[in-house]
Amino acid sequence: MHVIIIGAGTGGLALAHGLKRAGISCAVHERDRTRGDGLQGYRVGIDPDGSRSLSRLLPPELFDTFVATCARSGDRFTVFTEKYKEVLSLTGFAKSGADGAGSERSVSRMTLRQILLTGLEELVRFDKVFTRYDQHPDGTVTAHFEDGTSATGDVLVAADGSHSRVRRQYLPHAPLEDSGLIGITGKVPLTEATRALLTPQVIDGVNMFLAPGGYSLVIHVMQFPWDERGRPRQGIGASDTELLDAWPGLQFDNTRDYIMLAFGGAARNLPADVLRMNGRQLHDLTVELTRTWDVRLRTLAELADPSTCFPVNIRTSAPIAQWPTSNITLIGDAIHTMTPGRGVGANTALRDAELLCGRLVSARDREVPLMAAIRDYETQMIDYGFTAVRKSLAQMRGSDPVHKPVVGRAVLAGMRTGMRVVNHLPPLRRRMAAAAQQYRGHDRDA
Ligand SMILES: Cc1cc2nc3c(=O)[nH]c(=O)nc-3n(C[C@H](O)[C@H](O)[C@H](O)COP(=O)(O)OP(=O)(O)OC[C@H]3O[C@@H](n4cnc5c(N)ncnc54)[C@H](O)[C@@H]3O)c2cc1C
Repeated sequence: MHVIIIGAGTGGLALAHGLKRAGISCAVHERDRTRGDGLQGYRVGIDPDGSRSLSRLLPPELFDTFVATCARSGDRFTVFTEKYKEVLSLTGFAKSGADGAGSERSVSRMTLRQILLTGLEELVRFDKVFTRYDQHPDGTVTAHFEDGTSATGDVLVAADGSHSRVRRQYLPHAPLEDSGLIGITGKVPLTEATRALLTPQVIDGVNMFLAPGGYSLVIHVMQFPWDERGRPRQGIGASDTELLDAWPGLQFDNTRDYIMLAFGGAARNLPADVLRMNGRQLHDLTVELTRTWDVRLRTLAELADPSTCFPVNIRTSAPIAQWPTSNITLIGDAIHTMTPGRGVGANTALRDAELLCGRLVSARDREVPLMAAIRDYETQMIDYGFTAVRKSLAQMRGSDPVHKPVVGRAVLAGMRTGMRVVNHLPPLRRRMAAAAQQYRGHDRDA
């Protein structure tokens, strides 16, 4: 069996590791031109489920490297007003499993990608922009690339992210929709001066600042492990050398400690050209929008390195019914793009990779026919994948007003009062922390 994987992102590379370990032939075709291409974003939260999938798919030494290069994980989720007044603080998020794999982890996206690319050098083909596929009567499938080359195999896996060209050809009725929310991210170096702008709670977890008009700011402090000589860990994942020479500044620096800012606002309240703005314009926009906020938050917005500011159009897929099974299948954002509030998109891609890998191994070992194995994967994936899509969207739009894109002043005041009440009643706060954890999706082992 030969498996063609389109896309060397989180899901595609994790799947390739699993197949390689199981002795199944595969190749990953990626549009990026080199290993160091492209800005993958800054932070991604890998939850206990994602960590367990990685521990099962990666060679043990590579999983250890992943663990060693994660930032310190916090234990707290705190909600503040834009005036820096705490309204709710929940703890107990740094879960650890008996196998050591099941912990909540904070990772630099660039580091994660470098780790996932390690050991797959001979399997990843860069500069291969997928254009279309053909299915043949003998059960094989051919992927075609922009450079005129092609690859033929027994199974084609779309791991090419939210704008998947494979999905567009295979499931043209599967829609991708704007959520109405725009994000703007930026990085601030963590120094003595910037640390002074943060409270201990802010340093210890994920923090959401809610402002009138539906604006919000998520702050996450990324502190990386230091080696015995007091320097950031180098080696796999550190992009300091080549990339920092090419792009000086913070943008490609994934080993020095920093504060990540993720500003959110309703698209209809932001300038129409926000998605086309450059880093300096986005920086100035967030400074302007935080003008009336607490001076410490305003200062952080001002100190964000403009070269690190970029916009994100938050999109979502819409659930579709199961389709007739064939030798083409999909994993990750290629099939279930979701809004990022619950932080489970990459984790679900890892779950897909683990499940699909297991089903392909069963088919290779002739325990089940190949089509039955793919059907079983898709039946399970459609269920949990689109559940995650629905929960993520519901959290953003309605059932959880914390993530609603626009809330009026009265609603915001009511929400804040409700959170303050919960904050002062420990049993209620504990119940909410437990519900929040389950809601985030740590329900796989339940
Ligand atoms: C602001 C934000 C914050 C997020 N935070 C979290 C978080 O904390 N935790 C979490 O679990 N998830 C998070 N997510 C979601 C997560 O980033 C995605 O779900 C995850 O990256 C999906 O992985 P993937 O492998 O499916 O796709 P990707 O990682 O997007 O990989 C797709 C790959 O395919 C390649 N490709 C695309 N088109 C082609 C083509 N035509 N030919 C060849 N190659 C192609 C791309 O270059 C890329 O390498 C967040 C998302 C956003 C927007």
